[in-house]
Amino acid sequence: MSRASVSAAVGSDHVDGHPASPEWDVVVVGAGFAGLYALHRLRAQGLRVQVLEAGDGVGGTWYWNRYPGARCDVQSMEYSYSFDEGLQNDWEWTERFATQPEILRYIEHVADRLDLRKDIEFGVRVAGAEFDESGSRWTVRTADGSARTARFVVMATGCLSSARVPDFAGLETFGGDWYHSGDWPHEGVDLTGKRVAVIGTGSSGVQLIPLVAEQAAHTTVFQRTPNFVMPARNAPLTDEFTEDFKAHYPQLREQARYAPGGILRNLREQSALDESPEQRQERYEAHWESGGPDIVGAYGDLLRNAESNETLAEFIRGKIAEIVTDPERAALLSPHYAVGAKRIALGTNYYETYNREDVTLVDVAASPLERITSAGIKTADAEYEFDVIVFATGFDAMTGALLRVDFRGENGVTLQDKWHAGPRTLLGVATAGFPNLFTVTGPGSPSVISNVLMSVEQHVEWITDYIEYLTARGHTYAAAVVADEDDWVQRVQDAASGTLYLTANSWYLGANVPGKPRVFMPYVGGVGNFRRHCEKVAANDYEGFVSR
Ligand code: NAP
Repeated sequence: MSRASVSAAVGSDHVDGHPASPEWDVVVVGAGFAGLYALHRLRAQGLRVQVLEAGDGVGGTWYWNRYPGARCDVQSMEYSYSFDEGLQNDWEWTERFATQPEILRYIEHVADRLDLRKDIEFGVRVAGAEFDESGSRWTVRTADGSARTARFVVMATGCLSSARVPDFAGLETFGGDWYHSGDWPHEGVDLTGKRVAVIGTGSSGVQLIPLVAEQAAHTTVFQRTPNFVMPARNAPLTDEFTEDFKAHYPQLREQARYAPGGILRNLREQSALDESPEQRQERYEAHWESGGPDIVGAYGDLLRNAESNETLAEFIRGKIAEIVTDPERAALLSPHYAVGAKRIALGTNYYETYNREDVTLVDVAASPLERITSAGIKTADAEYEFDVIVFATGFDAMTGALLRVDFRGENGVTLQDKWHAGPRTLLGVATAGFPNLFTVTGPGSPSVISNVLMSVEQHVEWITDYIEYLTARGHTYAAAVVADEDDWVQRVQDAASGTLYLTANSWYLGANVPGKPRVFMPYVGGVGNFRRHCEKVAANDYEGFVSR
């Protein structure tokens, strides 16, 4: 059928006795790093692609997370697209860890450079999608009541995009203003002279607390679980460093693509217990001085052996005790779980901020938050008054953005039903019973346990290659096979078993969302191993998928 007759067929169910072609070949949901790259690749195949984006601009995570201090904890030279040599050589990063505004500028630059905006509809939230088995296509419904039909749907909705304000009673009665770190006002928030509460001490809280404290009249931090915070040691990038990095970009990128975390890191095989306490101290000190999150790579068994891990935990607790002058407060800020089991945060003046007289630390593990009142917050022990509450309370991670879309696959089965006991995917890219639906960095992929941009590129390339393979063969149906999916789900669990990731109440396990099934969601078997496995699947005619 020609393109003209495809267009003419839109809206009618059958043409010459055959199912009509859908309006679009592919609908991509989300215009962050994943959605933009998917659009670029699919358009290059000559496909009709429409991107639907809830925000009013490109950027995804970096569009929404505009809280003070927001920046990436992967170094800028690596947290950028690697698929276009011209792009990576032309762009100049200014700092070791880029700020949110700089990353957003970069994404906007990419969107303009590749002329992507013309195929993106902004301000459109996808609410549901139904698979039409006879036409082998999806009808994608949006919150405003409109619909699009597409052969394929690619969910590029991110792992940490469903911001979550816990279900605190009384929030609607609060007389002040409140904000979530993941949905921060574009115009910023002036906290000068305000009494500010911050709930949450994960990566977002750790970044914003020092800056809030600098501005507010008084800052009260409500901490449920302390975090291990490494100093970021952010700094401007020198021309010399950048030039040298760029000169070696092709090799460095290739190395990162097959590295365990999709990132350049000197990982040591050796056990922490094979070195003397003095040697360990020296090694940990070197990491502390150079900053960044790499300290968990200081020894090969830090994420597997509790005794090894404890040597690092003890080192960081020692640093907290050195920095925080009040010993009681230092103790409260000291975590007692395995380092890295919850994501390590990068801070700038984080622990130092607790030496300020205008900062109060409240332990809500000991005295739980009971309710929000018209004047502030009530815990089991006390009542506090605030002008502003900042929720740095995280996200319904990995599954949240997918499950809030009412997907109905084959036989009308909903994704909510299928995943009621936890997400099940093949390679994190597809789920059986939902043909022609692909997820970028879905549960079961390395995603959040990697340089996510490297993983995004790998997923997008794999998915778009598969779509090209299908189109070239005139196939209109692609679905994960249940047995292969079961096998992958098991592999994801096997990779995590025996690691210390399973020992903490983290969002990796869904532990931050009441009622969410406790299932370890990311694949921790390594980015390089994952990539090699995906390459093998593709080389074997996409084994594990029905393509017809
Ligand atoms: P998070 O790590 O899930 O932290 C949420 C915080 O809110 C935790 O301290 C949590 O305590 C607390 N909390 C949640 N519900 C609560 C309740 N009902 N009562 C009291 N406290 C509550 O969320 P996040 O800080 O936004 O970070 C999420 C992820 O986004 C990070 O792990 C990282 O992957 C990514 N991120 C990265 C960067 C970066 O690159 N630098 C920056 C920000 C975010 P518990 O620990 O007790 O649950």
